[in-house]
Parts: sequence; C-alpha cells; structure tokens
Amino acid sequence: MSPPAPDETTPADADEFALGCDACQAALADPGRDSISFLLTDQLTLPVVSCDEHLERFRAACALATTDTAETLTHRPAGGIHCPACRRAHTTAQPVVPVADGAVAVLGCPEHASALVGRFHTGLETRRQLTTSPV
Ligand SMILES: [Zn+2]
Ligand SMILES: [Zn+2]
Repeated sequence: MSPPAPDETTPADADEFALGCDACQAALADPGRDSISFLLTDQLTLPVVSCDEHLERFRAACALATTDTAETLTHRPAGGIHCPACRRAHTTAQPVVPVADGAVAVLGCPEHASALVGRFHTGLETRRQLTTSPV
C-alpha cells in the first residue's frame, strides 16, 4: 500500500529525471565519450558522467571524505580502470546521485559505485559539520 521508497532504488532513467541543470540533463541522457570523466580517489578509479560544475561539486565532497586526494580527469587515466566489472558497467544501469540541482552518474560496478557514492555522502556530512554558519 505504501509507495515505494524513491531514494535508493531509483533507476537511472534519464527520461524521468528532471534536473535543474540542463548540462547535467544532456550529459546523463546521452553519456558519450565527451561527457565521461574519470574520478580518482583512494584506490577507486571510476568513470562518471555529469556537467563540469556538478562534477566538481561531487569531487570536492569526495575529497573531504578521504585523506588522499580526489581528482577528475577528462581522459582515461594511465593505469586504466582496475576493476573488470567497472569496465563492463558502462552499458548497465548506473546509480545517479543528486548533486545540488544537478546529478552525477557513476559508471562503476555496484560495489565500487556504492563505495564512491558513500564517500560523497560522507563528504557532505563532513562539510555540514565543518560549516557551523549557514552560507
Ligand atoms: Zn550540472
Ligand atoms: Zn568495480
């Protein structure tokens, strides 16, 4: 009887995804070579799709959640993607993470995508705790 929980099981369906950011919307609707970036943090290297602005927000939050650095590349990193399942994950449904009024799609296997999304949420929480006064 109760409606399904919208949060964790929302499929990555760009058609039903109304975003405030047109650039994110366009990138997610048609992820291609030009819109895929690579996010490197800790041991994770994952392809991600978003616009530049929201990718940067995502990266910044991930950086707060790691003692290592988090950086984005617009080209495939020299070491490539270590996880074979992540390499195949391009063609399957990916988690789409709301970031402010945009969104970031993480093109990894479920294990690594959730690890990265977890970092993002940890980073947001860290920032909330650091920011005692409203911006
Ligand atoms: Zn955007
Ligand atoms: Zn993986």
